Amino acid sequence: MFEKILIANRGEIALRVQRACRELGIKTVAVHSEADKDAKYVKLADESVCIGPAQSNLSYLNIPAVISAAEVTDAEAIHPGYGFLSENADFAERVEQSGFVFIGPKAETIRLMGDKVSAKEAMKKAGIPCVPGSDGELPDDPDTMRAIAKKVGYPVIIKAAGGGGGRGMRVVHTEAALVNAVNMTKAEAETAFGNPVVYMEKYLENPRHIEIQVLADQFGNAVYLGDRDCSMQRRHQKVIEEAPSPNLPSRVRDKIGERCADACRKIKYRGAGTFEFLYENGEFYFIEMNTRLQVEHTVTEMITGLDLVQQQIFVAAGQKLNLRQKDIHLNGHAIECRINAEDPYNFVPSPGTIERFHMPGGPGVRIDTHAYGGYVVPPHYDSMICKLITHGATREQAIARMRIALSELFVQGIKTNVPLHADLMADAAFHQGGTSIHYLEEKLGIANK
Ligand code: ADP
Repeated sequence: MFEKILIANRGEIALRVQRACRELGIKTVAVHSEADKDAKYVKLADESVCIGPAQSNLSYLNIPAVISAAEVTDAEAIHPGYGFLSENADFAERVEQSGFVFIGPKAETIRLMGDKVSAKEAMKKAGIPCVPGSDGELPDDPDTMRAIAKKVGYPVIIKAAGGGGGRGMRVVHTEAALVNAVNMTKAEAETAFGNPVVYMEKYLENPRHIEIQVLADQFGNAVYLGDRDCSMQRRHQKVIEEAPSPNLPSRVRDKIGERCADACRKIKYRGAGTFEFLYENGEFYFIEMNTRLQVEHTVTEMITGLDLVQQQIFVAAGQKLNLRQKDIHLNGHAIECRINAEDPYNFVPSPGTIERFHMPGGPGVRIDTHAYGGYVVPPHYDSMICKLITHGATREQAIARMRIALSELFVQGIKTNVPLHADLMADAAFHQGGTSIHYLEEKLGIANK
């Protein structure tokens, strides 16, 4: 086992990884920007290294600075968290070339899955159902383009192969709009991602977002840890996640889960990962794979009783997976609300000093946060300050506990989206379960009228 791990991230996930390490008796190194120098998790780490100024590209995204920090502290492995460098294949490669262990998949796997065209091809080959569309890159010739769209059927969505974070996509409803839309998406993709390649998919009009968590070792063992429903989204950003997905029969979950575990074996996947699907009319359609830990891993932890970060560390240390599929049982229901420092209805970020912070508690309540009374939320990074998670024997109990926890959570000094979450916990469609990815925006649109 490793003696010391460097955590190449900030905020709640830096603290989450640190806790997993401390429990295993592993020493931790925190790297931080100047803006995060006083963060509590930085002080709690065994060692800390300042890697640059507040701007992410000069600190948390600065590969040589992160690697130098590992060198000077003699860390053996690097955990990238989520966001920042976590899905950067060049970083994973440089980490390994410099003699450290990257806690994640091999660089070549990250590269394969990072390009959505190659990811889809690999998944199709591995037996994963994909959204129908162009097979690979969309050709330039307008007639061929139109022929493909006709076959797929309108509406279609044009997506950048190098896209991410919900950017680089355009929906096209008619043949007349097609060629222009493709050219615009290509130009934007070139500017934003340095890669003009685009592909086409059928645009699904009312899907849910359902994803499968997997875990695999380097010896070809792979398991799936159930599913998560992350349909409650705004601008393709998840707001609430839950596990298991409501109203999804367990045989349907098991069938897609088995396929994902099998795909991991086929592509020789290593570590924790997520297969993201759109789910419509009883069918799953693969959209992308995340080759890292996700924000919402917590709901899976609550219902499986597993520590996903520790599992990542075991696999990275070269151990065999200590779990078989029959050992994995889903127990009850868990919900996560992402608490952001922002206006609850116009979503304008609200950084600044948290003057008072009272955390909820009680049975089935988990809080992952790096914030506290007196903490200053910096304006430079993601606005998420806290993940509030509840677990119950049933979905109803998890919702009831979330409602109570939200009423107890008190943050003074900055605005948060707690009122939006409280509204959603009382929402009839949410109670019923199984709302589509458009539900929240539709609800907000009506609320704003
Ligand atoms: P990103 O990597 O930018 O998050 P994804 O491919 O995961 O891109 O897609 C993000 C979101 O865009 C999905 O959750 C869904 O809301 C929407 N989307 C993507 N592809 C389709 C599609 N074929 N039909 C309908 N919506 C889609």
